[in-house]
Amino acid sequence: EKYDADVIVIGAGGAGLTAAITAAENGMNVIVLEKMPMAGGNTLISGGEYAAPENWVQEKEALEDSADLFYGDIMKGGDEESDPALARILADKALDGAKWLRDEVGMIFEDYMLFFGGHSVERSLVPKNATGYEMIHKLTEKLKETGSPLHLETKATELIMDENGRVTGVKAEYHGQVIEYTAKKGVIMASGGFGYNKEMRAQYNEEMGEGYLSTNSVGSMGDGLVMAEKIGASLVDMSFIQAYPTCDTQSGALLYVGDVRMEGRSILVNKEGKRFVEELERRDVISKAVLQQTGSVSYMFWDASAMEDSGMDVKHAAEYNGLIARKQLVKADTLEEAAAFFEIDAEELKKTVENYNQYAKDGKDLEFNKRGKLVPFGEGPYYIMVSKPAIHHTMGGIKINTEAQVVSTEGKVIEGLFAAGEVVGDIHGTNRLGSNAIADITVFGRIAGESISK
Ligand code: ADP
Repeated sequence: EKYDADVIVIGAGGAGLTAAITAAENGMNVIVLEKMPMAGGNTLISGGEYAAPENWVQEKEALEDSADLFYGDIMKGGDEESDPALARILADKALDGAKWLRDEVGMIFEDYMLFFGGHSVERSLVPKNATGYEMIHKLTEKLKETGSPLHLETKATELIMDENGRVTGVKAEYHGQVIEYTAKKGVIMASGGFGYNKEMRAQYNEEMGEGYLSTNSVGSMGDGLVMAEKIGASLVDMSFIQAYPTCDTQSGALLYVGDVRMEGRSILVNKEGKRFVEELERRDVISKAVLQQTGSVSYMFWDASAMEDSGMDVKHAAEYNGLIARKQLVKADTLEEAAAFFEIDAEELKKTVENYNQYAKDGKDLEFNKRGKLVPFGEGPYYIMVSKPAIHHTMGGIKINTEAQVVSTEGKVIEGLFAAGEVVGDIHGTNRLGSNAIADITVFGRIAGESISK
């Protein structure tokens, strides 16, 4: 079978859908290929939070922020390893992208924000119900409106190049059948990262191989990286692989109940009942610190008012109930009881909480200098949740220029090939800050969609 289009997009996660909609709105005939039976990828299972400086919630709360400050955070958060030009675009266009999602795509955002690690101010917008579903649902609806088909269970296997080195199409497989797609204008690679691919992780970074579970969608196997490399694309920063610090010790799933941490309302302690890291540090820093604790796990502690204010047991009720049932989370009337459940040193934990409350009173955390407003712990019931790091994001990937065109190992543009989203490298340096991926896939998804339509 054969299909002809102006633009073929590989991958129906946030980046691919955004790029496809943008290209369609620029008059292109677009087909989106997705290997899974549904759209969404890692975007769908993410919290969907979106970092945007000078956003409308900040405005309401009279919080000062700027694109420059955000740029500085991206660079610092990734140890200055990002391509400055790409990081600059992300910082400058993040707000625009968020407004596009809100006003053009119809995404609904909550009226509060979250404080993600490594940001210098609270700037992360929260989608309806704090999951990636809102984004994928609304993008898929919008794609339908443009009349662009989404071919599910269709796995791209190979990029087709003509004799001039221009990408002109894609070979794909649908239920064992080979399908050829020709793309007059070109192909947008938006196939996501390789966080679910143990072998590939180990190939690029020995430490990040099978010793870790993964938070990722099973589709994040790095297909697009392999396809692009085969036709000469440059892959960069491939060893930069991020673990998320607080994941399910059994499945590796990212635990959203733990977002009480991003509201500044929980602490992380070890079996000895002591804090060991700033709770709003970068993910990589916290993950490394956790791995040095007894049992390579951490215990998140919070109180009744933190639970009530954050509403985590309601927002993420299914996860919460599952954690209780599987004994990964305990709710107990006293601190001693909660500590005993996980055999944590209760005396020490008590001291830790007393110290923290004193810091809150004084307005300064003398041990770890935790950012944001410190809120003391009050009455029970108390909650303790066990968790450990799991692979979350692959920062490395295809090298692109500022127009989202793919660059070859010789530093030349590969005509007809564009890339956006987690498949791209060199935007977040060694470490992506929380809520920067959703901004990234939106900003560069739109750029790819515009560039290919020119
Ligand atoms: P991003 O955040 O960059 O959009 P996601 O992980 O959300 O990344 O989405 C990537 C999508 O690409 C996933 O839905 C994944 O299943 C899909 N995908 C990965 N490899 C292929 C492939 N070879 N062919 C088609 N779709 C693919």
